[in-house]
Amino acid sequence: MNLILFGPPAAGKGTQARRLVELRKMVQLSTGDMLRAAISSGSELGKRVEGVMQRGELVTDEIVIALIEERLPEAEAAGGAIYDGFPRTLAQAEALDRMLQGRGTGVDLVLRLKVDDEALMRRIAGRFAESGRPDDNPDSFKVRLDAYNAQTAPLVPYYLAAGKLVEVDGMGSVDEVAAAIDKVLAGR
Ligand code: AMP
Repeated sequence: MNLILFGPPAAGKGTQARRLVELRKMVQLSTGDMLRAAISSGSELGKRVEGVMQRGELVTDEIVIALIEERLPEAEAAGGAIYDGFPRTLAQAEALDRMLQGRGTGVDLVLRLKVDDEALMRRIAGRFAESGRPDDNPDSFKVRLDAYNAQTAPLVPYYLAAGKLVEVDGMGSVDEVAAAIDKVLAGR
């Protein structure tokens, strides 16, 4: 199964993706994690994206599409993937459809975690203190939220039209959201 966990930054996508990986033995494909690993390793790619990420802007489609493409064989071998933080633009969504089609599969389901902006801002204030992630600071977070609203939210009608979007209330506790996700995935 190819499952996209969709939603704004700090909606809980990473937390829920990691839980599903344990439960369903799927591969988590998080472009954010891949980019942070590139920065930590000091690679050329890491150097290219560090400033952009720190400001909270999106890196280019070309970069993240290539990162995902590299991992598709591994995901396929595992029987599917959980996409976390990808796709974030229409061009990325179209590229994913093309890449999966080329492998004889496709996106099965897009789980949209709905959390309102105020709750996100509250969450992130706590997370910044704990994670120390540079792009969790309030200024960068605002840019990330704006990027989501301008560039990523338009994927909602795209996946809705494809009949693939299911919404889950993301405002509850981690366990409550997990239960809502499991309900959607039951039998799949
Ligand atoms: P995340 O961990 O998913 O919140 O991603 C952290 C940062 O990595 C984002 O704010 C972007 O700068 C970059 N990033 C991650 N995934 C993507 C993507 N699919 N497209 C563009 N930029 C991305």
